[in-house]
Amino acid sequence: MIPMVDLKRQYHKLKDEIDQGILTALENTQFILGPNVQEFEKEAASNLGAKHAISCASGTDALHLALLAAGVGPGDEVITTTFTFIATAEAICYIGATPVFVDIDEKTFNMDLDATEAAITNKTKAIIPVHIFGQPVDMSRIMQLADKHNLLVVEDCAQSYGADIKSKMTSTFGITGCHSFFPSKNLGCFGDGGMITTEDEKVAERLRILRNHGSFERYHHNIIGYNSRLDELQAVILRVKLRHIKEFNHERRRAAHYYSEQLAGLVTPPHEDGIGTHIYHQYVTLTDKRDVIMKKLSENEIACAIYYPIPLHKQPVFAEQYKSVSLPVSEQVAEQCMALPIHPELTNQQIDQIVATIKSAI
Ligand SMILES: *Cc1c(COP(=O)(O)O)cnc(C)c1O
Repeated sequence: MIPMVDLKRQYHKLKDEIDQGILTALENTQFILGPNVQEFEKEAASNLGAKHAISCASGTDALHLALLAAGVGPGDEVITTTFTFIATAEAICYIGATPVFVDIDEKTFNMDLDATEAAITNKTKAIIPVHIFGQPVDMSRIMQLADKHNLLVVEDCAQSYGADIKSKMTSTFGITGCHSFFPSKNLGCFGDGGMITTEDEKVAERLRILRNHGSFERYHHNIIGYNSRLDELQAVILRVKLRHIKEFNHERRRAAHYYSEQLAGLVTPPHEDGIGTHIYHQYVTLTDKRDVIMKKLSENEIACAIYYPIPLHKQPVFAEQYKSVSLPVSEQVAEQCMALPIHPELTNQQIDQIVATIKSAI
């Protein structure tokens, strides 16, 4: 049995450190915005080279709060990719703005930047680039577009913790960078968690009150805020894993490169465009034999998944509103994409087994 991610194996490798940290936090009983949350924010900011890191309850909340703090609101258009997890668009809808979906590059699956430029109107307020599957979007081009048209850039880094472009981390290019610590992400906790990074003092200040009931000072509420805090116990786990994130991402790249060598000629392996470092949150191939391959993998107890089977403009929730929108590259990729197991603990031997199974299916 080979799972998509092997959280158990990772836990057992880090068990002593994690268990010890949790037991100490239980004794401390400072469960809300406690010392581990505060230390984690400092450590993550330093790790990313960001001025401020504000943790919150999930990656979805990170996007929602980031848009609020940046001042995006009703009537604004926000351009993003149609080929992403629903949360990217949900956050835009929460604040009453309108998502404008653009098509993707057929090789990297990241948003098409010519299409992004073409989608800018006088209502456009922001762009949300998503570093999909862990491969950085060309942020220098995005920032040029944003400067030229006076737009805000909110990076969705839910899949790209630790991915950099020439040593500058994703999440430090836009006004804010939004992270998810969902268990299966590259930096994941044991439940939900999220974080926003920013260089902007005022935005950081707004985020700190937005996540905590609009309050700086206890029981003094300046604005309507939210209950969106990172849990103290999750912060313990994240502090331990943060010390290993570089090695985790390195091992993901090792596994991905070994896969790509072995899979040549069988399916189309993921394309690295070299703009930044792909940290392989997912290893997504293309094949026109997806059904037979997936059936064979499942018979052999090898996990396999489709990211994403339906682009957002075709999702039931959006289909009516976007019925005149055609984004053919994303629609084609959705038909052919196949994600194989990838995690730092995946061995080359397991990859051999997966590749042999794929070979036997086609
Ligand atoms: C996981 C994910 C999110 C949402 O993060 P949660 O922590 O699950 O709320 C947002 N955007 C993308 C691209 C994601 O992959």
